[in-house]
Amino acid sequence: MAPSTRSVNFIRQIIDHDLETGMHRQIVTRFPPEPNGYLHIGHAKSIWLNFGIKDDYGGQCMLRFDDTNPEKENQEYLDAIEEDVRWLGYAWTRITHASDYFDQFHDYAVNLIEQGLAYVDSQTPDQIRSNRGTLSEPGTDSPYRNRSTRENRKLFHDMKAGKFPDGTHVLRARIDMSAANLNLRDPVLYRIRHHEHPRTGNRWCIYPMYDFAHGQADAIEGVTHSLCTMEFEDHRALYDWFIEHLPVPSRPRQIEFSRLNLNHTVMSKRMLTLLIEQEYVSGWDDPRLPTLAGLRRRGYPPESIRNFIGAVGITRKNNLIDVGLLENCVRETLDPVAPRTMAVLDPLKVVIENYPEGQFETLEVPNHPGNPDMGTRKITLGREVYIERDDYMDDPPKKYFRLGPDREVRLRYAFIIRCTGIVRDASGRVQELRCRYDPDTRGGNAPSGRKVRGIIHWVSVQHCINAEARLYDRLFSSPDPLSGDRVFTESINPASLESRHQCKLEPGLGQPAADTRYQFERKGYFYPDRDSRPGHPVFNRIVTLRDTWARISRQRIT
Ligand code: ATP
Ligand code: MG
Repeated sequence: MAPSTRSVNFIRQIIDHDLETGMHRQIVTRFPPEPNGYLHIGHAKSIWLNFGIKDDYGGQCMLRFDDTNPEKENQEYLDAIEEDVRWLGYAWTRITHASDYFDQFHDYAVNLIEQGLAYVDSQTPDQIRSNRGTLSEPGTDSPYRNRSTRENRKLFHDMKAGKFPDGTHVLRARIDMSAANLNLRDPVLYRIRHHEHPRTGNRWCIYPMYDFAHGQADAIEGVTHSLCTMEFEDHRALYDWFIEHLPVPSRPRQIEFSRLNLNHTVMSKRMLTLLIEQEYVSGWDDPRLPTLAGLRRRGYPPESIRNFIGAVGITRKNNLIDVGLLENCVRETLDPVAPRTMAVLDPLKVVIENYPEGQFETLEVPNHPGNPDMGTRKITLGREVYIERDDYMDDPPKKYFRLGPDREVRLRYAFIIRCTGIVRDASGRVQELRCRYDPDTRGGNAPSGRKVRGIIHWVSVQHCINAEARLYDRLFSSPDPLSGDRVFTESINPASLESRHQCKLEPGLGQPAADTRYQFERKGYFYPDRDSRPGHPVFNRIVTLRDTWARISRQRIT
């Protein structure tokens, strides 16, 4: 089921080589989220790659929670991450946690102390930071760097026993304070945090740093290829140093690839948390967010996300991907399978004056004009219909082929109507159109019948149901909201959500089929929202039928 990772050449070449030379018999990967937020579409890239490699090579892939930061982590995030990975269509070999190995990490730390390769530093966090040096200047040795093994052993033991408050001591690796790679300048391995952990409770008051835990967890799990994003390239030397100096059961090989960045949105969990806390959006599953929960609620099918990642590919080059590409993947996924229906989002009533009152006709129409296998449905037409308000103009320009005074248009699947009268309210706004229909034009633009350029969708006033539609647009007007010196929330698109409460739908949509995305003809793809109540359906617009942003930017260019 998972799309093949065939296109990921630079990683597969390494794996193929490692298999051919007998270095590994089975490939083991892992996806290691930190449970401090929900997953976003950037994570989908890592999931696609790690689980895809597992599926393609018949290997194993762990879902490993990197839970070394108890302050920021909670059970809600752990549950949400599992759900999102499953929803994307992947199955893990095992769920593991960095915290499963806290005892082992502790033993590794003691091992380094015994070898004289780690020491307890009692400088303040500020002193540690300022003594670290810069890219151009070496760091300065801590005055505690030469503590005896005995003293280090004792202090580390007391740290673990809870004898010191937070921030008073840390355990550091003893590598080289003048290393060109800053990550090798005696990195911190353990810090004191008197904080309950979601899994280990109050057992620990010292927690390993991510950098100390990550590579060792890989080694413990027998991960053969540790696939991670480019920002860890500079950390590889440190991970290798640990592996070299510790009695770990295996030697993972780290390979980096570039992160996925999308325009018109933000991806980092810190920014997403801020948008949620400051109520710019309604929560982690707000359909405007690039979170998997948000995309799922909005109606993105999981295969559209997998297809998108496959289309973007895995490289080592950092770039900003146009969200238009994602939207196109959704259209391509949905076009062949989404049942069609007519829905009027901004209704304008039309009275067909020469159509007898109280009389109705039933039309049998295809659910998908391109796919007869999807069957037909019956819709009803009578004297009164709703059409889209913008399918009428008082003073239409030349290329406008819809309704205007004394103009003709075809009602989809039915006949041609001509606008013969306009009813306005006191302010002059059009309230209702009066039309006449031509009975000889039933059955489409048949060669025998008359042809018109415009065909519009409609619903019967007497048969339609009322619904709410939520029309989403990009959350940020700026393609790169974090660039420049404005606060990023200033470029939030004020039109990112438009709720229409008076939409008119075909009656069948009162009980939409489970897990079905519909195409509202001419309007886009829609998916029922979980806010729907009996008698009050709510539909999210997943995506419009065309990329309106592409048109806007073209207009700007020309
Ligand atoms: P964020 O900065 O969004 O919080 P993170 O890297 O801190 O992301 P983690 O939970 O630590 O998030 O990430 C889990 C895995 O997903 C890591 O291996 C990380 O490299 C990968 N990952 C995170 N963001 C992206 C992205 N935008 N593109 C590709 N992979 C990503
Ligand atoms: Mg992180």
